Amino acid sequence: MDTRKIIDKIIEKSEASIEDIVKILISQQDSYLFEQADKIRKEYCGDEIHLRAIIEFSNYCRCDCLYCGINRQNLHLKRYRMNLDEIIEYAKKAYKAGYKTIVLQSGEDTWYTREKISYIIKKIKKLGNIAITLSIGERDFDDYKQWKIDGADRFLLKHETSDEKLYNSLHPHSTFKNRIKCLKWLKKLKYQTGSGFMIGLPGQTLNTIAKDILLLKELDVDMAGIGPFIPHPATKLKSYPIGDSKLTLKALAITRIFLKRPHLPTTTSLEVTDIKDRENAFYTGANVIMRKVEPYKYRKLYEIYPNPNIKEKTIEEEKKEIENYIKIMGRKVSTQRGDAIDK
Ligand code: SAM
Repeated sequence: MDTRKIIDKIIEKSEASIEDIVKILISQQDSYLFEQADKIRKEYCGDEIHLRAIIEFSNYCRCDCLYCGINRQNLHLKRYRMNLDEIIEYAKKAYKAGYKTIVLQSGEDTWYTREKISYIIKKIKKLGNIAITLSIGERDFDDYKQWKIDGADRFLLKHETSDEKLYNSLHPHSTFKNRIKCLKWLKKLKYQTGSGFMIGLPGQTLNTIAKDILLLKELDVDMAGIGPFIPHPATKLKSYPIGDSKLTLKALAITRIFLKRPHLPTTTSLEVTDIKDRENAFYTGANVIMRKVEPYKYRKLYEIYPNPNIKEKTIEEEKKEIENYIKIMGRKVSTQRGDAIDK
């Protein structure tokens, strides 16, 4: 079957095999794929792009992820923790600037106990009609449960790679099984759940990417972050090449035609090599963008990978800039919270 037919079949039946996906990933003809992904994005998500404010509140981390610049073995990195009221203050600023979602992200930092996170959630929810997304890694079921009761709406926890052996070698502190267990808990607790993976991890094959996309389907995700791996100079993977941006866009487009409804962000890692790739993602299925809103002194220390595009701007300047950019693309800035799209 030629790839055009495979694409049509995936769209019609929402079914795909590893072989189908690999064939599309290999094919040099990607314009039909991108066109269809854009069409389905329009059909399911409309022309609105959702802006999410992200507060990276701590770069302390108990994990050893081999690819990540804030892993605990990086002794050169200056560590920071925002205090609880400082986090709430910046959430308030973002809300005032018009953001409808606050993403609270950090390394796995257990200084922020269940109670501390509860306090932050409850205070932010009092600001108004605002969604909270947590992205703070693996925790106990009872932690996740309490934060849902407190008002957290969504949780992002990428599966990073569907290859169990590769996952376990890249994450010596944990296991693939535990990651998946946490993702299933989050779904069970009725969080709008996000997963995702990296393109270009050393040891990854096209088969792995196909399985990554199938795993997103199996987990029935509401959001998925797909971005290239960027080598960080202070990590064990520093000499490996950067993930391929074209392959990233294709994985994103296949996810859109196959799963249809999830919110798909254009990831910051896509803008590292070429700012244009961030824009391209909006034509291949993406409908979300996140902007950092914590103070610049912290932004530059939350260096999971080197990103020369981090500039000192106010929350308002940053928001204006992104809104103009969305308008120039002929799309609209959403005024809604951008919750999960129902089946
Ligand atoms: N600790 C939380 C967790 O594990 O979900 C959230 C923070 S973690 C730093 C956020 C994401 O950064 C990870 O899910 C991973 O995909 C991404 N990331 C880390 N290092 C990266 C790298 N070198 N290149 C691309 N993405 C990276």
